[in-house]
Amino acid sequence: MTFGMGVLKGMIVTFKNFAASYLCKRDEGGIFTVQYPEEREKAIENFRNFPFLVYDGTPEKLRCVACGICERECPPKCIYIVMEMDNARKPARKPAVFDVDYGLCMNCGICEEVCPFDSIFMDHDFEVTTLDSRTDLVRHKEALSRSNEYFQKIRPLFASAIDQKRKAAEEKKKTPPQNTGGQALQPPAAQGLP
Ligand code: SF4
Ligand code: SF4
Repeated sequence: MTFGMGVLKGMIVTFKNFAASYLCKRDEGGIFTVQYPEEREKAIENFRNFPFLVYDGTPEKLRCVACGICERECPPKCIYIVMEMDNARKPARKPAVFDVDYGLCMNCGICEEVCPFDSIFMDHDFEVTTLDSRTDLVRHKEALSRSNEYFQKIRPLFASAIDQKRKAAEEKKKTPPQNTGGQALQPPAAQGLP
């Protein structure tokens, strides 16, 4: 009986899709073949292909701090990061090297999910074919970097939510910590303490 119901449900879905491809318009759920590459469908907001890195303002201002979390969590290990060092040989909190091998990437989006700095997101660009996949599909930092405006353009709802979250976090940082009585804490000197 369960088997029979499953087959029936599957047939209903198939029939609905079949009928919709003739009766519905494209934006009403109809299924269509487009004449690619002359004709292209606009990707839906959550469509994901390969990851890119976001910068604010200019490409030197990548949000990435080279923490290495995405590199560790990436299932096929296709991310490679080297931290930049400052003149005192201390970590500069930015990547000197950030490579992603698109030939290995399986488009899972885990790097986007685990990044605590809202730095890496999945792109809509899928036209990455090349004649030499061993070298050309390894994308370096410069080729991976995209502006926040680009991010806003391809994923407006999600990118705006990220911007709001970052803005709220910035505001919170600027606000002095409150004590339990609801008054701003004063530095020791202002309280008459040594
Ligand atoms: S999308 Fe998945 S496979 Fe591709 S770089 Fe990110 S974590 Fe790795
Ligand atoms: S993209 Fe995010 S998770 Fe990956 S190294 Fe940069 S800050 Fe860390």
